Amino acid sequence: MKYNRILLKLSGESLMGEKQYGIDNNRVQQYAEDIKKVVDAGIEVAIVIGGGNIFRGLSAEKSGMERAQADYMGMLATVINCMAMQSALEDLGLETRLQSAIKMEQICEPYIRRRAMTHLHTGKIVIFGAGTGNPYFTTDTAASLRAIEIKADVVMKGTRVDGIYTADPEKDPTATRYDEISFQEVYDKGLNVMDMTAITLCRENKLPIIVFDMNEPGNFMKLANGEHVGTIVR
Ligand code: UDP
Repeated sequence: MKYNRILLKLSGESLMGEKQYGIDNNRVQQYAEDIKKVVDAGIEVAIVIGGGNIFRGLSAEKSGMERAQADYMGMLATVINCMAMQSALEDLGLETRLQSAIKMEQICEPYIRRRAMTHLHTGKIVIFGAGTGNPYFTTDTAASLRAIEIKADVVMKGTRVDGIYTADPEKDPTATRYDEISFQEVYDKGLNVMDMTAITLCRENKLPIIVFDMNEPGNFMKLANGEHVGTIVR
């Protein structure tokens, strides 16, 4: 196997499926089945999930709410998504632990790096909730940060697009997909991969990012096997 430990980042929006808001259980179940295949192959998987399907701090700020307050609400939204994913994984018989960057002891563990690593070692899936625990950050940054902390080999960002394009493929039909791109090119071309804080963390710590289509069943396993899917940034 090419990877021992993978950090999978899922956006909140990806959990919406075809819905306009909230969680599509069928979509969460498909993701859980894909994750199971990778875990069953003996690869350690940690997951960071966003909250944009429920609440986004930046959007709330635009309609007048104080940013920090709105961001804390966004972080709580991520925990709801994490709990949905935890249930779906456990329904498949997998062992999981949810760790939150904001303490919520009735529903999950607090984030403790060393404990997270022990869980991974013993074959449990660790889901990291509440982003970084700080306002003004994103769950992309949380994914990069946690991946570095737990010494993951790669961040895999599962989206509904099959990689990084020269322009937004939903708007520009001439856009082409990169197989591989450097961190410098992402900066120079202003490509929308992850926010710049997340990109910089990965670059400084030599952590590759793979952007791929998580909605295509089997893609996550292909990547875990070392097959080329999506776009790799390194
Ligand atoms: N958020 C935050 N700090 C973090 C991570 C997330 O304040 O470290 C808040 C922020 O308001 C953000 C919301 O949580 O809009 C949901 O996270 P994100 O937008 O990253 O989710 P995604 O786009 O992946 O669904």
